Amino acid sequence: MSKRNMDPKKQPMPAQPPEERRRNFREVALGYSAGQAAAEAARCLACKNKPCVAGCPVGIDIPGFLARAAEQDFAGAYEIIARDSSLPAVCGRVCPQETQCEQRCVRGIKGEPVGIGRVERFVADWQAAQTPAAQDAPGRKEDAPRMAVVGSGPAGLSCAGELARNGCAVTIYEALHTPGGVLVYGIPEFRLPKAIVRREIDALKALGVEVVTNAVAGRSLTIPELLEEYQAVFIGSGAGLPRFMGIPGENLNGVYSANEFLTRVNLMKAYREDSATPIQRPKRVAVVGGGNVAMDAARCALRLGAEEVSVVYRRSMEELPARAEEVEHAREEGIRFRLLTNPVEILGEDNWVRGIRCAKMALGEPDASGRRRPVELPGEFLELPVDCVIMSIGTSPNPLLTGATPGLSTQKWGGIIADEAGRTSLPRVYAGGDAVTGAATVILAMGAGKTAARAMLEDLEKGGADHGI
Ligand code: FAD
Ligand code: SF4
Ligand code: SF4
Repeated sequence: MSKRNMDPKKQPMPAQPPEERRRNFREVALGYSAGQAAAEAARCLACKNKPCVAGCPVGIDIPGFLARAAEQDFAGAYEIIARDSSLPAVCGRVCPQETQCEQRCVRGIKGEPVGIGRVERFVADWQAAQTPAAQDAPGRKEDAPRMAVVGSGPAGLSCAGELARNGCAVTIYEALHTPGGVLVYGIPEFRLPKAIVRREIDALKALGVEVVTNAVAGRSLTIPELLEEYQAVFIGSGAGLPRFMGIPGENLNGVYSANEFLTRVNLMKAYREDSATPIQRPKRVAVVGGGNVAMDAARCALRLGAEEVSVVYRRSMEELPARAEEVEHAREEGIRFRLLTNPVEILGEDNWVRGIRCAKMALGEPDASGRRRPVELPGEFLELPVDCVIMSIGTSPNPLLTGATPGLSTQKWGGIIADEAGRTSLPRVYAGGDAVTGAATVILAMGAGKTAARAMLEDLEKGGADHGI
């Protein structure tokens, strides 16, 4: 047995220096060595009641895999993680660990919690380095149940994987020209290298999963049409419809939704000279919002060459919802945080953005979300001279698909109504991920896809999946 490591601090994560990385798109956190991963794993106390496991939405046996990693048995560690997670290289990088598994870790009481995500990332990368590129499976069986998946984000991918591993012939229909959902069009390369996502998709294809791109459900094909061809359909279409504030000036040139900005940068490679979708290279940028999406947009703008990038957020640092590590990285790179500041107008000249006017705020009583409500300080304003404003105040599910699917019940805000197993109001139609919950996390979407796949298989075995909640 390895010796327990009682260091109150995590093994530091090697990273590109801030002054270097702020101008390139390469991955920021470089990952542990085998020795660092084992030393970090050895900080685990192997608690009998495993509080950390209750903090992981998919219930990974955390002390189990850490014990193996501490012994440098990384293959054994991977096997344990893979029982519950199909995307550990992704989740180890992007899970908000500080509000999930690591928040419950007892080592966090008198020091830093065990770096569960960091060890998970190492184990997943180690495994990928040992495994040859995915080999093609023998092919689909003629009589395999045929299943359709709409959307290729983490929900769709994990659903497709679970179905394929259980003998189904699965086809994924994706609206964009590249599969991966937010993992490719939203989260930038410097946080999640696209090669990792490609590897996951190649592994699915090797299992026999077909991926059809440029296929928009609700437009080029409909759910009733899919139901004629497939035994069941899973909808994992995400929540990609951006919200705006409804303030004057939002239609000026130089105002983007974070979704559009990030898609142009990440998917269309707008930062390259030879890109087919050139983007304005802004000098002074205001990003409105405080979530992961806002941090990504701000850090991308910086990497495109902006001289000054400000995150404009109406609450204080304490309420900022982005992952702590991203906020820290953004600060190190020189992003400015304009807190307790709320835009009231985008100022223009010749139809282009020239500034943003913000009201100064204070925190009042807690609102329904439990966070203190921001209230305007009468007559106190701030004007920032900017040539680009990126709106990152949230997204909701796109009504294109639901509007074209008679009988599919939705919430008022557009989310598809589904039970815990992912069953919707329509027989043989299941849903999960952001399309059901609204914008959430990769691990929750992945868990929902897997749960729905199990319900699809269960209903199929019962002889027809004739549910409808
Ligand atoms: P998505 O990933 O959105 O995938 C949906 C897919 O469906 C897309 O590919 C879309 O093109 C496709 N689609 C939509 N409509 C149709 C249609 N009609 N027909 C066919 N295809 C369709 N979460 C974290 O845990 N950690 C993070 O650090 C983090 N950072 C984020 C940063 C950004 C910029 C964004 C936008 C999100 C971030 N999230 C993060 C949230 C996380 O990425 C999402 O919760 C997760 O991707 C949801 O997965 P999903 O499969 O439900 O949807
Ligand atoms: Fe933690 Fe996410 Fe891994 Fe679960 S999947 S153990 S929440 S990093
Ligand atoms: Fe290990 Fe922390 Fe989980 Fe305890 S709570 S088993 S120390 S990871």
